[in-house]
Order: sequence, then structure tokens, then C-alpha cells
Amino acid sequence: MATHKNWSRWRPQTLAVRGGQKRSEFQETAEALYLTSGYAYEGPEEAEARFKGAAGYTYTRYGNPTTSIFEERMALLEGAACGRATSSGMAAVTASLLCCLKAGDHIIVARALFGAIRYVVEEILARFGVSNTIVDGTDLAAWRAAVKPNTRILFFETPSNPTLEIVDIAGVSEIAHAAGALVIVDNAFASPVLQRPIQFGADVVVHSSTKYIDGQGRALGGVILCSEDFLKNHLQIFLRNTGPAISPFNAWLHLKSLETLQLRMREHCRNAETVANFLGEHRNVRRVFYPFLESHPQQNLAKAQMSGGGGVVTFVVAGGKNEAFRVANALKLIDVSNNLGDTKSLLTHPATTTHQRLTPEARVAAGVVDGMLRIAVGLEDAADLCDDLDQALSSI
Ligand SMILES: *Cc1c(COP(=O)(O)O)cnc(C)c1O
Repeated sequence: MATHKNWSRWRPQTLAVRGGQKRSEFQETAEALYLTSGYAYEGPEEAEARFKGAAGYTYTRYGNPTTSIFEERMALLEGAACGRATSSGMAAVTASLLCCLKAGDHIIVARALFGAIRYVVEEILARFGVSNTIVDGTDLAAWRAAVKPNTRILFFETPSNPTLEIVDIAGVSEIAHAAGALVIVDNAFASPVLQRPIQFGADVVVHSSTKYIDGQGRALGGVILCSEDFLKNHLQIFLRNTGPAISPFNAWLHLKSLETLQLRMREHCRNAETVANFLGEHRNVRRVFYPFLESHPQQNLAKAQMSGGGGVVTFVVAGGKNEAFRVANALKLIDVSNNLGDTKSLLTHPATTTHQRLTPEARVAAGVVDGMLRIAVGLEDAADLCDDLDQALSSI
């Protein structure tokens, strides 16, 4: 393998194409896929040395050359010291929490949170003696008021799903650090192209690389980006022994996808803005949520910490569940699917899918009304997407 380069001099798009690349003796131009679970040694002496910590690989649960390139490239893009990839976004979120929490600790999370993460916090962590407070993520005073002497972690996603609320990363980080706690940000909706939370004070960034990083709806994956301290003291040993390792094949897919991430995100944003503006003027649409729209209550904050509004647009149709379902059923191009971050535009009804498990009261608190639809705008021609939405909305 070729020697390590000093990557810090290059700009993000260059890092996305080349960051972390190591070539084998064959000098391949595309990064090699090392689909292997184990590694052979020259002899027992080398095996002994590796197990004592010498550089090199021992087992793919611990590390893999293809996965390492993906991790290093992600760390470079997020401005983090280190990265570790996992089998899914939820594996990344769960590991980032379990690796450093213990019974008696307290965690604060934003209310507008991915459903599975709420389950991990409210059910699993609680079962092991980690208490939680759930706050309105947009309200800095609420974060501040929730801090206790045993608070260890403040966790949120921004923009949030599905109402695209923005959490002030610098503001929450200041509150956390004053209390000696860590900030973990789920950056799946923005990707490192649009938002780099570490730059605003976050300590750890987690990703579902299943979404925009893969970008083509093919493979699950997750990433945790952190400091060397966090890796050495918490994460490394947790991952090695619990085993949420990513398949080298999925790591390779996501690594190669990073090369086009910036191009795709720019186009997702452009299409989403077109769709958001179109929906905003439609007679059968009551409300549109998109971070960079004039009508978004936190447009200024969104523009301060993001370089684009992202690919997700949420809207409320004139009516309730029946009307929302009628629109979804009338679509001819856009698919009904709860996934996002695909080249194909996907539409979901959050109240009956991603947010179905919440109590009606919790759904209202999360702003998820029955007439709400979320569209993860893909890379088709935006005019076709607007045509499809127009004919579907006219069915109301
Ligand atoms: C999809 C998603 C996750 C979970 O990722 P998986 O790869 O599906 O496990 C976590 N957070 C956010 C914001 C997501 O959109």
C-alpha cells in the first residue's frame, strides 16, 4: 500500500474524489475492494506483533483496507480526526451512545428525532439506567434547562424529519460544553456537503450512509466521526467487541459514491427548491416546509449553518389523511416509499409510516399532521416532478 499523504491542503471536492486513497502493488486507479474476513501473516511472530498493536489488519470485524479508505475520506469531509463505519445508520447511532454511557447517566435529545433513535433512547438506554429528557430542539432555553449534573450527551438531528426543523449546532454545543457533556449530531439529511457540524462545535457526527452518501438506494451503512480521544477511550473497543462492522462491499459502494456526492447534493437541492416553490403556490397545498424557503421560521439559521436546503420537502395538503392518500395514489412518477436520499423521488405519509408508533399527542407535538406528505426529491427532471405533483394534487 502506498504511503499516507497530507490531505489537509486539498479542498472538499478533491477530498471526496481522492481522500484516503491507498493503492496496492498493482497501482489500480479505482479503490480496490478487499472482500475478505481475515488476513494471513508471514508467521506467528507477525501475528503476535499485530495482536500487540502493530500496524496492519487482523480481522474485518476490527478493520479492513477498503473500509479504512471510506472512514478516512468521511473524516476528511466532516473535518473530524477519525471515522469508523458501521453496518447501518442505526448501528452508528446506537454505538455512539452505548460506547460512552453507563447506568446513572443522563441524555438530552431533541423531540424531532428519527423514530428508531427515540426507541434506543427511551426504551433501550432507559432499561440500562440511562435517563433522558426530550426537548424542543429549536429552543436553546429548553436545552439549557434540561441539563443535570449527570448529563453526558446532547443528541439531535438537523434538519429534522419530517418537519425540517433546524437546531442551532453552535448554541447547543456551547450549552453542552459548559456542562462537560458531548454533542452528537445526526447529519444524514444534510451530508457533509451541505453541513459540517464539527465546525460549529459538535463533538461526534453520525451518519446513515444508506441515504445521500449511497445516494442510489442500494446498500445500508453508517459512519461515526469523532476525535482521537473518543475513538481511543470509548468507540474503538466497543466496536471491536460488539461487531456492528460494515461489509467491505457496502463500504466500497459508499466510498465510490462520495466521489459524486457534491454533484448529486447540488442537484437534489436545486430540484427540491423548484418543487418547494411549486408546492408553495399550489391551491391544494396548505403549507410547505423547506429550510431555505422564505416562509421557514428558521431560514436565517439554516443559511448560517448549511450551504443548501437539502433534498427533502414536506408539505400539508388541503384536507387530512384521505386527501393525502388520494394524492399519493394519484402519483404516476414519484414512488410511495419511506426511504430517502435516492436518485428516485420518494413520497411518504409520515403519520402512518415513520411516525405511526407515536401517540396522537406526541405526533401533534412533533408537528406531524394527518395531511402531511414528505417528498425526498430525487434527480429526475424537476419539471416532470412538478407535473406529477400537479396532476396528483388536482385529485383533491
Ligand atoms: C435513515 C436514518 C437513520 C437510520 O439509518 P439506517 O441506515 O436506516 O439504519 C438515522 N437517522 C436519520 C436521520 C435517518 O434518516
